[in-house]
Amino acid sequence: MRIKTYMKQVRTKKIKIQPTQTIIQAMDNYLSACNWLSEIVFKTRETKTNKLHKLYYSTIRDKFQLQSQLTCSLFRQVSSTYRGMRTRKKWKLAVFKRPVLPICFRRDFNVSKRNGFTIWNQPIQMFSDLPDNHLKDSKIKNIKNKWYVILTYEIEIPDPKTNGTVVGVDRGIKRILVASTKSKNPLFVKGGRLESLRKNIRNTKSRVQAVGTRSSKRLLQRLDRKEKSVTEEVLHITSKTLAQYSESVSAKTVVFEDLSEGIRESSKSKGKRFRKQVHSWAYSSLLFKCKYKLEAKGISVALVDPKNTSRGCPSCGFISEKNRKGIKFNCKSCGYSNDADLVGSMNIRNRFISGLLERDDSEKSSRQSLIVADSLEDSATSHGSCTRGS
Ligand SMILES: [Zn+2]
Repeated sequence: MRIKTYMKQVRTKKIKIQPTQTIIQAMDNYLSACNWLSEIVFKTRETKTNKLHKLYYSTIRDKFQLQSQLTCSLFRQVSSTYRGMRTRKKWKLAVFKRPVLPICFRRDFNVSKRNGFTIWNQPIQMFSDLPDNHLKDSKIKNIKNKWYVILTYEIEIPDPKTNGTVVGVDRGIKRILVASTKSKNPLFVKGGRLESLRKNIRNTKSRVQAVGTRSSKRLLQRLDRKEKSVTEEVLHITSKTLAQYSESVSAKTVVFEDLSEGIRESSKSKGKRFRKQVHSWAYSSLLFKCKYKLEAKGISVALVDPKNTSRGCPSCGFISEKNRKGIKFNCKSCGYSNDADLVGSMNIRNRFISGLLERDDSEKSSRQSLIVADSLEDSATSHGSCTRGS
């Protein structure tokens, strides 16, 4: 029996909150106190946290009505700022302007069944769910008059699974992603809502751009933000769906195309399609979100060269641009036909598997190794000794 070990990983989640008067006041007081102490440290050149604490703790508590834990955090923050200057040999007066409050778990904030999420014992209204993981010291931020907690938490990442299926994923536009494995039903995530929203925003933008006034510039910025936030939300849901799918087909590895290089070089036709319609950040953001969620389930993520993955025939290996026509794939050599994005995901998956085998036996042609690979994967899936259920 294999012993399962877990690796800890720290993550953060930004959650919008309804601030209490106490929070708003604390932010003001904290910054004022930082700047007050900053002047003293600048003059005295005393940067030891303990010393500063001893000298000024009660003064600051009285003068700025600051919570005790915040006062402790303040000494750490100010002294580390000046210690940094000392090492860089650039001594100047530090001014604290960024509205960020450090908050300590269990001292400044807490979570309980009875009161929910509390900061300084006051219940806080939150606009999304708390992660149900082990919380750690976090922050409150004010960004453009909106308030957030930036929650830090710890998750346990299981060892990557050694047995299971391989899932291939094709990222696209009409379909944000298509995922497939050898035997189970594929997964299609459509991009309809995102696409139409983008189109709307783009139309509005081009009309607004023509105006060129100050208010139209503001509107443009707002539209940018809107596009980004809707995209983020859609990508979040998409990655969640993929993680669930991967778990349901007992995946050990999920394979994506490596588009960081591919967009520019090896896959010209695909690159063109992508560049035209989609920001590449959306693609990397999707990959990042998927990786995040998959690895938390012990499923590893692999990247393969995207070259020809949309043009090659998964049945006979024939490569031609003519094989693909929009949403349809039709092999000009053997007549194999299927959904074009699905074919993409199959090719991505096959490339990964043949890559594994080529490492074992470099003499086999990739086509041969593909066939062997599938039987290998099957045996691992059906006779695997430690395939885990969900
Ligand atoms: Zn073919």
